[in-house]
Order: sequence, then structure tokens, then C-alpha cells
Amino acid sequence: MWHIDQKAVCVDDASGGGFGATNLEQGNVYTIFGIRKGCCEIELDVGIPNIDGRLGCMCCGATESTSIGWKRASRFRPLDPLEDQMERLEKEGEPIEEHQPEIA
Ligand SMILES: [Zn+2]
Repeated sequence: MWHIDQKAVCVDDASGGGFGATNLEQGNVYTIFGIRKGCCEIELDVGIPNIDGRLGCMCCGATESTSIGWKRASRFRPLDPLEDQMERLEKEGEPIEEHQPEIA
């Protein structure tokens, strides 16, 4: 679903423990610089530094030292919904192009 250089729209800038949304703003478009599998879900590096130097996981409480402000992927949606749809179709092995039935 996510890939490097993809544009992502923030849909959840709520703050609160764990992978906080510091500096995120809902509706803003971010570029994805990095993707990783966090301990509980996919996390994105959208170019926001982690000022505290420490991150805590919201779901399990695990902490780590990092200068990257990893954000939970669920805080974003792809900017281009069509791209997302095409990727899903590719994964399912269905044709990407839509063929209109010919009218007799
Ligand atoms: Zn966790």
C-alpha cells in the first residue's frame, strides 16, 4: 500500500501517547521517505524529525531511541486513491484496465 516517494495525506493528527502526531497536520500532504514494520503496525517516515529522540509505542508501550519521527501509517491515506486501487488490483491479480462492454 505504501512506497517511498508516495504522497500521503494526514487523516489523523490527534496527539496522545505513543507514536505521537507532533507536527502533523490533518489534511496536509506529506512525502514518504521511509517505511518500516513497527512492533504493532506499519510506520512511515514523512520527514518529521523526532525532537525528543525517543518514541513510545501506543499499543504495547515499547520505547526506542530514534531521531526519526515515525508515524503510524493509519494516520495517513494515499493522496491518490486511484493509485491505491490499482495497487490493490495488481496484488489480487486482476486486470488494471477496465474494458467497457462493446455495444452491439
Ligand atoms: Zn507496539
